[in-house]
Amino acid sequence: MNTAPRSQAPFVERPREHGLGESHQAGTQPVTLRIIEAPSPNHDERPAGVPVDMLILHYTGMRTGQEAIDRLRDPAAKVSSHYVVEEDGGILRLVPEHKRAAHAGISHWRGHAALNARSIGIEIVNPGHEWGYRDFPALQMAAVCDLCLDILSRHPIPPRNVVGHSDVAPDRKQDPGELFDWQGLAANGVGLWPASDPPPPPESETLHLLAAIGYRTDLPLPVLVTAFQRHWLPSRTDGIADAATRARIAAVAALCL
Ligand SMILES: [Zn+2]
Repeated sequence: MNTAPRSQAPFVERPREHGLGESHQAGTQPVTLRIIEAPSPNHDERPAGVPVDMLILHYTGMRTGQEAIDRLRDPAAKVSSHYVVEEDGGILRLVPEHKRAAHAGISHWRGHAALNARSIGIEIVNPGHEWGYRDFPALQMAAVCDLCLDILSRHPIPPRNVVGHSDVAPDRKQDPGELFDWQGLAANGVGLWPASDPPPPPESETLHLLAAIGYRTDLPLPVLVTAFQRHWLPSRTDGIADAATRARIAAVAALCL
């Protein structure tokens, strides 16, 4: 399952000669990825007429990567993802992108539901909050970044639709969680990260601004705020919409207008 170690700069210092930051736009050269085929039977046809316009990132949340990979390929488990990224940066393809994988479950974003139909799912090996949540190694993050850029080069996925499982299922899921380097990904052209925060808006605008970003609004506000914090203010996951959190919510919402 493992690939040879990759020789490259740490994730935070990704070289720009690969076109990182722009390579999902037409005319630039995507990074060449080494992908191991590990087919899963747990997929079906995507519904006709629905674009693939979301990229949803997960952690595996099992004790070992192999345990997770085995489960994602087990017909009885009925779950899968399109890709798995191991902690050493190895990338496995379980389901072809044109098929629907079973990774998001009950999920909502920007008014859409059942997001498996319109998304590509990446499972990133990490034991998760249940089994010993730990840092995502730089090699793993670099591989995630390269894989995301590769996917973005093929599909009309806007930056605001690159999200975590916890964003689209805030009442059920915590992955990929507050240790995941969303800011580093955004610096490399994957997803949204605001350059600065405006003054905090009044508390009465919080739900409206979360809805503008894409969150469903029929859940308790602390649940939504916690999900937001896991992604865009990972130093705190207390669900409290204090001034700093409201400022960051407004900053992200401004990128979604
Ligand atoms: Zn997940």
